[in-house]
Amino acid sequence: MTTPRKTRDPKTLRPATQLVHGGSMRSSFEETSEALFLTQGYLYDTMEQAEARFKGEDSAGFIYSRFANPTVAMFERRMALLEGAEAARATASGMAAVTAALMGQLKAGDHIVAARALFGSCLYVVEELLPRFGVASTLVDGADLAQWRAAMRPNTKTTFLESPTNPTLEVIDIAGVAAIAHRHGATLVVDNVFATPLLQHPLQLGADCVVYSATKHIDGQGRTLGGVILASEAFINEHIHNFLRQTGPCLSPFNAWVMLKSLETLPVRVAAQVRSAEKIADYLADHPGVSRVLYPGRPDHPQAALVKRQMSGGGTLVTFDVKGGKAAAFKMANALSIVGISNNLGDAKSLLTHPATTTHQRLKPEVRANLGIGEGMVRLSVGLEDVDDLIEDLGHALSVLGAGARRAAE
Ligand SMILES: *Cc1c(COP(=O)(O)O)cnc(C)c1O
Repeated sequence: MTTPRKTRDPKTLRPATQLVHGGSMRSSFEETSEALFLTQGYLYDTMEQAEARFKGEDSAGFIYSRFANPTVAMFERRMALLEGAEAARATASGMAAVTAALMGQLKAGDHIVAARALFGSCLYVVEELLPRFGVASTLVDGADLAQWRAAMRPNTKTTFLESPTNPTLEVIDIAGVAAIAHRHGATLVVDNVFATPLLQHPLQLGADCVVYSATKHIDGQGRTLGGVILASEAFINEHIHNFLRQTGPCLSPFNAWVMLKSLETLPVRVAAQVRSAEKIADYLADHPGVSRVLYPGRPDHPQAALVKRQMSGGGTLVTFDVKGGKAAAFKMANALSIVGISNNLGDAKSLLTHPATTTHQRLKPEVRANLGIGEGMVRLSVGLEDVDDLIEDLGHALSVLGAGARRAAE
């Protein structure tokens, strides 16, 4: 007999190693690559075992894939390691994660405070859905801590924010908001999609719960939708566990398998995309057809000091204003040949969108203006193409604006 190989506690490993090995559960076949368990249910050896599993006395086993599934569990375990969270629950989409993280905590008569600059569907949940169930909501300018302080009420149960925000890439002081929330006995939920799990760690900054649309950088290759909620064991058990099991927004094992395999390459992909985003932001900032570049990695970002405190990189998104408003932005985008026109983000393919006419079209013009979303503003999600090809593509597209843009520059 040989002695079994040693295994390291995955918590002691560095993130890139955790993302390759963490959370794996091998079947008796000892497969190298994580297995895909496409099964709805599970067999019990005996009636006694079934009884024990339903009583929760045999927690190692599975009952039904709406509750838990081995492939989904591997994805959750790997995400929990990366985030440094005690517990994780995967969901069918990012919106299922956001909705469960908020509704799981709230009941009629409660109050929520959220930053105004939210992903469109998150804004719907906070502004329209929750009030239908008797939960009052207040929206604040997320960057202004005084507004968070003023909005808190005795019945405020939770607070919610995204940082960096979409599409203006404004950064919100997570530790500052967490301190305000906790002083009032409320929790803080952070949608960490734009920062990715690698560049910002909300739980370490004091947040109680982190949510992701795994659809974005975690899949990273534009294939499947998914989401994940990460928090302490106590938070998950109290607010999330039963809500998800009984209402059913579970992640398909197939999608979990795609995400699980994607996590292996997440650090390599995000690092390459951040490097390219930095170069593109610098290129655009010097371009005469561009009036403003918003990129958290640049020293001219309005909250550069906070970015330095809170993030370890500027992210994979670059937002910029094309001189000449909507007509110029459209003309430029229509002239792109590598960068695709799409509202999606975090893909291996570079994608560009015009928020004023797509993701933020529903908002009144004055609300858009208030959020800093101009008619010439475009948001670029930087992919994995060669950065010089991307710069050439953007340069060519901006050049079609020609004299018009140069005139506007004067
Ligand atoms: C995409 C996104 C969501 C929603 O995720 P889905 O997977 O599309 O449901 C929520 N928040 C942010 C910041 C997003 O970018």
